[in-house]
Amino acid sequence: MNTINNNTDFLLSIENLTVSFDGFKAVDDLNLYVDENEIHVIIGPNGAGKTTVLDLICGRTRSTDGSIKFRNKELTDMREHEIVREGVGRKFQNPSIYEDLTVFENLELSFPRGRSVWGALTFQRDQDVKTRVHEIAGMVFLDELLDKQAALLSHGQKQWLEIGMLLIQDPELLMLDEPVAGMSVSERKQTAKLLNEITKGRSVMVVEHDMKFVEDIAHRVTVLHQGKILSEGSMAKVQADPKVIDVYLGH
Ligand code: ADP
Ligand code: MG
Repeated sequence: MNTINNNTDFLLSIENLTVSFDGFKAVDDLNLYVDENEIHVIIGPNGAGKTTVLDLICGRTRSTDGSIKFRNKELTDMREHEIVREGVGRKFQNPSIYEDLTVFENLELSFPRGRSVWGALTFQRDQDVKTRVHEIAGMVFLDELLDKQAALLSHGQKQWLEIGMLLIQDPELLMLDEPVAGMSVSERKQTAKLLNEITKGRSVMVVEHDMKFVEDIAHRVTVLHQGKILSEGSMAKVQADPKVIDVYLGH
């Protein structure tokens, strides 16, 4: 039988993905799958290729080879904004919020622009936006701070605001690069709660070094090393893997 069925039940299906920078393979023949409603965490030493994987998915970096399918649609030849429109949201390591605007305004600005420009619909739209902003602010622990200027938020609150700015776009896959770096212990706990909350109805891919945090959120863990998978499975499984202890956790 020569029939090849390339369709998959996974939300995200990465196969044979490779990117080469002047001959150096930062991601090397990677296969990685993300289910619906899954929190999938990528860990591994610095330079393992974790951020590059997220860059490839969101179209910031072009692959050299391989395939990235999101709902069975090939992403590797799409532009960044088209990938966003498909339902993939990405948070970078440093929060990119508008410091001089309020929390409310930051969230409002991130509300997806509709195609309609008819004036008659404006009032209803304003109400919808307001309701949604309040809803999201509640989820990211900022509902009491809607009128506060973003510059005055704590580092952790800025991270939450940016997560909120992504959530308001309602992505089906949300990607976060080191979301708890620089956060206090209690902020980390709250962020874990937040991520567990928002996975109802979407999938999340997280790159993180904080093992306690990873333990609190991960449904599945992929350990990357030199652009390849070193180990994969539950947190308990990868933590007990001698290869992982050797190149990463033991340090
Ligand atoms: P991690 O996030 O796991 O720490 P990265 O994905 O940032 O690692 O980087 C993996 C490797 O690829 C590193 O050696 C890095 O220097 C290299 N790299 C990443 N992006 C580029 C680029 N645009 N050009 C050249 N090398 C890059
Ligand atoms: Mg990185």
